[in-house]
Amino acid sequence: MLGPEVREALLKAALLNALKHGGRAKVGPVIGALLAERPDLKPLARQIVPLAQEGVAEVNKMSLAEQKALLEEKWPSALEALEERPEEREEERKLPPLPNVEKYGRVITRFAPNPDCVLHLGSARAIVLSHEYARMYKGLFYLRFEDTDPRTKAARLEFYDAILEDLEWLGCRPDKVFIQSDRLPIYYEHAERLLEAGKAYVCTCPRERFRELVMACRPCPCRSLGPEEHLERWEMMLDGTYGEGEAVVRIKTDLTHPNPAVRDWPALRIIDPEKHPHPRPEVREKGYRVWPLYNFACGIDDHLMGITHIIRGKEHLVNEMRQRYMYAHLGWRYPEAIHYGRLKIAGAVLSKSKIVAGVEKGLYTGWDDVRLATLRALRRRGITAEAIRRLMIDIGPKAADITISWENLYAINRKIIDPVANRYFFVWEPVELLVLDCPGPFTARLPLHPDEPERGHRELKVPCDGGRARLLISGSDAAEAREGELMRLIGLFNIEILSWEEEGRCLKARFHSEEYEVARERKARLIHWLPAEDNIRVVVLRPEGTVEGLGEPGLAGERVGALVQLVRYGFGRIDEVKPGFVRICYAHK
Ligand SMILES: [Zn+2]
Repeated sequence: MLGPEVREALLKAALLNALKHGGRAKVGPVIGALLAERPDLKPLARQIVPLAQEGVAEVNKMSLAEQKALLEEKWPSALEALEERPEEREEERKLPPLPNVEKYGRVITRFAPNPDCVLHLGSARAIVLSHEYARMYKGLFYLRFEDTDPRTKAARLEFYDAILEDLEWLGCRPDKVFIQSDRLPIYYEHAERLLEAGKAYVCTCPRERFRELVMACRPCPCRSLGPEEHLERWEMMLDGTYGEGEAVVRIKTDLTHPNPAVRDWPALRIIDPEKHPHPRPEVREKGYRVWPLYNFACGIDDHLMGITHIIRGKEHLVNEMRQRYMYAHLGWRYPEAIHYGRLKIAGAVLSKSKIVAGVEKGLYTGWDDVRLATLRALRRRGITAEAIRRLMIDIGPKAADITISWENLYAINRKIIDPVANRYFFVWEPVELLVLDCPGPFTARLPLHPDEPERGHRELKVPCDGGRARLLISGSDAAEAREGELMRLIGLFNIEILSWEEEGRCLKARFHSEEYEVARERKARLIHWLPAEDNIRVVVLRPEGTVEGLGEPGLAGERVGALVQLVRYGFGRIDEVKPGFVRICYAHK
């Protein structure tokens, strides 16, 4: 009998194997490594196989970071040994060090989205960098939902869970989750502290009047009133005496600050709970009327949650200036802030409002519409979380603006999924290929993966009737065929093109030879094909449109979620399987 220690040893071997190969372990080498360490188990090899398969499947579900963390937790010396032999690992770029880490006991980073949309590729940078830095310094990574604007940036219930799922998929599981709408008493308490200390005031000036004064670097009449007056006004904000827009708490800054947006910025305001109910029922029932604005809630939370390093876009530089005044008033030390430049992804819709509006209007089929750059859409297309993580780590937290193309992401993803994806023939715009002088029926045995024959084969049978064999090839291949040209049907035989028969829309050819060497010597074009019968219908969803055609029946044997390569067409992910039908979402070439 195999004891639990064998499972453990397999898990360790699978983790090591995965870390050496970009996060994907393979069963064969894992068993090999186990038996090398435990030759006494050799007679039990057959029983070990299913256990190794389970272990490998489990490990391959984890992200690279999770694999590393688990190995580090259970077998730290094995991880050290692996890291001492960097030539065995795939190249993995490292992030530049964080500033002033030694000042803090433990690095804590956070990702703080408003739950008003699912996550997209643009948000991935803040997530991956914050998560990766926390891991790098054995610190913590927090998720904070910033949902304190039920009026103009209203959160939606469905997105709280969706964002957590997206993070999980990305391999960036938060160590803690906070929801700002649970924390209103905390914000109130700090507002009162600031009002009492004369560091904040309740301004009841009309908005336009305040703007005129502040642009002229002059205080409004409210600013010089005493704390008692402001605490009274604060009570009137809370009890409903003031209505929406009639009073706002402002943080005192420098009225001569060169940036008018920094001068006495608004911290809390009134939102009518009847007109703008909060989406969370447990918050709604409290009937809050006073809500903190972004800089107030975010600034208070970063301090109270012990965030040591904030990694965010440089559009937040002004926010840092604003918040520093409040930190000084409260006697707090501002965390380290790293501001990265803008990241543009050519051709991607990264506006949350456009995504939400598009889905609502039915312009998109859902959050995972393949035309979108949401994490859900990328996942559906077979873009791996690991590829997104690696891309974001490659880009790092540089301050300069950068533009990347989809090809940058695809190139990384291709390396990850190429060893995993099974190969199949997909013939788009099929036309008939009639082969004359065929010496008999053929059965093509094609490997599921050219580098791993042990994965098995697909068999495609080509009947031959009186020297005539009928096949299907893609219309574009037929259109490019020239009379007298030698072509090779991959894994089958070589043909010589005779003519294009317009009437029957059929390409006529003659059997030439069977050996691949002949095709190689004559530099023949290699094309894929299908038998005339027994194929399944294949629909490929691409961001730019849908392509239909026929495919090998084996495609229908793949599970939903499997990654495949359609030979000479590209990589994709199985999206739906029905009898005689497969839908695939296209990833890339
Ligand atoms: Zn005022």
